[in-house]
Amino acid sequence: MQNSFLPLCRPALNDADIDAAVAVLRSGWITTGAKNAQLEQDICRLTGASHAIALSSATAGMHLALLALGIGPGDEVITPSLTWVSTINMIALTGATPVFVEVDPATLMTTAEQIEALITPRTRLIIPVHFAGASLDLDPIYALAERHGITVIEDAAHALGAQYKGQPVGYRGHCIFSLHAIKNVTTAEGGVFITSDQALADRIRRLKFHGLAVDAFDRETHGRTPQAEVVEPGFKYNLPDISAVLALGQLERLEEITAARQALADDYIEKLRDIPGITPLQDPAHDHEHCRHLMVVRVVPEKAGLDRNQLIEALKARQIGAGIHFLPAHLQKYYHDHYTALYARDMPSLPHTTLAGGQICSLPLFPAMTSDDVDRVIGALKTIVTQHEK
Ligand SMILES: *Cc1c(COP(=O)(O)O)cnc(C)c1O
Repeated sequence: MQNSFLPLCRPALNDADIDAAVAVLRSGWITTGAKNAQLEQDICRLTGASHAIALSSATAGMHLALLALGIGPGDEVITPSLTWVSTINMIALTGATPVFVEVDPATLMTTAEQIEALITPRTRLIIPVHFAGASLDLDPIYALAERHGITVIEDAAHALGAQYKGQPVGYRGHCIFSLHAIKNVTTAEGGVFITSDQALADRIRRLKFHGLAVDAFDRETHGRTPQAEVVEPGFKYNLPDISAVLALGQLERLEEITAARQALADDYIEKLRDIPGITPLQDPAHDHEHCRHLMVVRVVPEKAGLDRNQLIEALKARQIGAGIHFLPAHLQKYYHDHYTALYARDMPSLPHTTLAGGQICSLPLFPAMTSDDVDRVIGALKTIVTQHEK
């Protein structure tokens, strides 16, 4: 048991989910159809959003949202460097300027004050990131955006099931969830864009499938009417039903999934108190419900006796998986080497992001883990740190 590999994550798929996917495979209709429609309805019900569009990934959702909002050359988009690079890549590919905002060192989330300092007449969009399963402090961010007439898209890739002030993340504005294999609810690959803006929803629905005129999902034929015509050039970002169906049972079990993650995280947080230099992130001070997507710790070499990369290697030698969420985008080769030339401005100084980028490590966390698994990780961390003590 101690020798078997403990991964960073495992999808929370049960036999019923797998049977449901097999039933779709046997049904004769395996691509976008009734299961997508149900997934979209379920996400609306869970979040209170009025429109949900299922897509092949959250990255696809970000791409379409940027295009649908008309973001392009000359526009500035404020988002953290401490995010998954897909967001920065999509901004760069539209020709707009990614403006990296600093994060709070305790929660690794950005704040309205940090965003406000970066606003210029060219700022068109803010993409704040709900981090590791905690909710951003949304009220000040929306107040700021409204004051300046700037749009917000919440990156909620980590936050399906999280709450802010008693409301589910996604209940206002525009928001993107990821259903990638590592996320709390998964379709292997997938994402959902939600909004209360009918026109934006229609545009994204059109762009996700070749730019065909949006018509009602046809329940008889499981698809669009064959007469649908291109009204603008679009993409091929739809989600197949064999994927979409996997999420339906997970969404029904979402409270259970979140509770299992919460119990494991509580266990970790309690037991990490005894380990010098390996410290969990702080939970935000504002009213929220965490969905414990990632168990991120900071490895402080001066106290732990080793650095983050050494720790990941030492865990791997003990058959324990670990991850980095994230390597800051501003330190990655393309952005680091070309930012000034591309955008005719200096890379902002991001001391908290840079420091965190070298220290953060994600430990195994998934609902099927047991408290013995947590003890195994904690035991390994204790041994590793003790071995490195001077
Ligand atoms: C996973 C993730 C994404 C991208 O999701 P995909 O579905 O893989 O495209 C975007 N932002 C953050 C913060 C993520 O963790």
